[in-house]
Amino acid sequence: MEVIAGMSISKGEARKLLQERGLRVTAPRLSVLRVLAEAENPLSYTEVLRRLGEADCCPTTIYRNLVKLRDAGVAPVVSREEGVDRYALAGARDDGHRHPHFVCDTCSQVSCLPAELGASIAMDGPWAASIQKAALHLRGECPDCR
Ligand SMILES: [Zn+2]
Ligand SMILES: [Zn+2]
Repeated sequence: MEVIAGMSISKGEARKLLQERGLRVTAPRLSVLRVLAEAENPLSYTEVLRRLGEADCCPTTIYRNLVKLRDAGVAPVVSREEGVDRYALAGARDDGHRHPHFVCDTCSQVSCLPAELGASIAMDGPWAASIQKAALHLRGECPDCR
């Protein structure tokens, strides 16, 4: 199934996504999936909670379900800046979030940056084959805060 970042996901699509991974369809899981699908950027647990607003279940339930979705590969952690895990819907970005991320010092939002920014970091020599994964984070003030 194709999911595009920043797009809303229908209940049917969310249900299908859960069933494909052998997960039970529950209201909190559908809510978490909806929030992650609508987000342009990876979200932390706190950001998911904030976006859910007046949720009809408690924060611990949301946390447990987020972890469950992570473990099932539906919502992998794509950023670990400052020790905060941020989740995104699997497959929503073609490159699996291997592009650089921007961390705002003011609002702490993590944003996805174009992949080309990271592509210029290429290596030759013995280290080239050793690097399997890069996590590039840039810092500063995001356009919304500036
Ligand atoms: Zn900001
Ligand atoms: Zn990203």
